[in-house]
Amino acid sequence: MIIKRDPLNFQSYLEDSSNLKGGHARYVVIPQNAPEISSVLKDANSKKTPVTISGAGTGQAGARIAFGGLVLSTEKLNAIKDIKKFDEGGYAVLEPGVLIKDLKEACGKKGLFYTYDPTEQTAFVGGTIATNASGARSFRYGSTRQCVKALKVILADGAILSLRRGGIKAKGRLLEFEVNQKHYKINLPTYKMPRTKNSAGYYAEDNMDIVDLFIGQEGTLGVIVEAELKLLEKPKEFFTCFAFFPEEHFAWNFAQDAYNANPLSLEYLDNNCIKLLQRMYHNVPGQTKAAILFEDEIRESENAIIEKWEKLLSKHGVSLDNTWVAMNEKTHREFLDKRHYIGEQMGEMAKRSGFTKVHTDLAVPKEKLPEMLQFYKDNLSKSNLEYFIFGHIGDAHLHVNMIPSGKKEYNKARELELEFVKKSVALGGTVSAEHGIGKTKREFLKLLYGEKGIREMFAVKKALDPNLILGRGNIFHLL
Ligand SMILES: Cc1cc2nc3c(=O)[nH]c(=O)nc-3n(C[C@H](O)[C@H](O)[C@H](O)COP(=O)(O)OP(=O)(O)OC[C@H]3O[C@@H](n4cnc5c(N)ncnc54)[C@H](O)[C@@H]3O)c2cc1C
Repeated sequence: MIIKRDPLNFQSYLEDSSNLKGGHARYVVIPQNAPEISSVLKDANSKKTPVTISGAGTGQAGARIAFGGLVLSTEKLNAIKDIKKFDEGGYAVLEPGVLIKDLKEACGKKGLFYTYDPTEQTAFVGGTIATNASGARSFRYGSTRQCVKALKVILADGAILSLRRGGIKAKGRLLEFEVNQKHYKINLPTYKMPRTKNSAGYYAEDNMDIVDLFIGQEGTLGVIVEAELKLLEKPKEFFTCFAFFPEEHFAWNFAQDAYNANPLSLEYLDNNCIKLLQRMYHNVPGQTKAAILFEDEIRESENAIIEKWEKLLSKHGVSLDNTWVAMNEKTHREFLDKRHYIGEQMGEMAKRSGFTKVHTDLAVPKEKLPEMLQFYKDNLSKSNLEYFIFGHIGDAHLHVNMIPSGKKEYNKARELELEFVKKSVALGGTVSAEHGIGKTKREFLKLLYGEKGIREMFAVKKALDPNLILGRGNIFHLL
């Protein structure tokens, strides 16, 4: 096991994509295997030392940033143990430190397909499970949760739990199980989760599977040391299209119609994103006010699919001369890179401005999206803030990124963020659809589930981690 004790050598473990500042730790441990993790936890638990689990650090909510105690990095647990193919689909068994892009590559070689497709491919599998990450293709396939078949988790006291879907289920909201002759009886939260994509707080549902409790727990309930993930057969060919719209609301209306056409993904870029893109890529059509990048699968013929989308695009004012279509893997990748460029630029711009970017991760029920978008536009256009709206319009899940240039703008952006969160909750949406709550969105959770919901979640945490050592400061105000 490697231990880094010199803060100069572990500064990078105290950062992620949120720009949250001030992280500190006594030291960083880098175990090689699950038994080493178990003994680190046993020791930390006996001394009540906080442990922050670190994945790849691409998180957007400051969740892997420690404020005291030790950091436990999963980077050395990076083996893909098995990939099996059946007639239809297959599965992969792997450790948490495997990069998403490596998993995808390994699956591709066997003709298989891992459906989770974030714009950031350098996340660890463990991090994506711990945040219930999703991304563009969740429109067709759902979030990470839908891919997890089994998990191995180490609890705060070092006990190892092997969990397979269907093995342990709650009775109503009561979850009972045994590990190492210790009996756990846990009352699950009684709240109703929003009917959108959701990564806010603990999963809780009548008769739920215990596996679901450990997905989206943000390193507060246990260390995920192994996962079995569902794979699908690789789609024969992708049809990827970048459609450029003369007005933003034409793109909003197109998205509402496109839901029924069942693409793999539907990604939106607003007018300000287009301007950013045009500075980097000079071939982006001049009169564009918004764009939608979407992927579909070619099942029958190319002609059939072109005809299907051509009709829909023309209906919403898109000139086909100005539409880009990728019919091969290389161009497909180039289109996705353009979309990724926008996400990356948000972090870069915030770094340059010296202020933390303020960004939302809200999803609302699909039929409420036009109302939510209009609310964003009305408030942002009055604010004088530099802002960008983009993301997973297929799931009615758009990120609003505000880049403050001074303290006053930062405060204004935080005020607007709160207004957006309240509006989302009022429309039946969530306060975090894929990034999690971490340390930057804790106050929003109360708006979603109320004081009672937080208390109920905390009781779950206390039952599994009585000394409160894991993921201090994530989800709950516990520093
Ligand atoms: C440009 C960009 C684009 C992005 N696009 C998307 C997107 O499309 N969809 C999306 O969902 N997210 C996206 N993200 C956010 C980020 O990639 C995800 O949140 C990802 O799941 C984080 O994984 P990580 O390995 O980097 O985790 P980290 O940031 O290291 O940690 C995140 C949380 O997981 C916990 N954790 C990590 N490993 C384990 C483990 N083994 N056991 C228990 N807990 C653990 C940590 O303690 C922490 O609470 C994007 C980020 C960037 C920078």
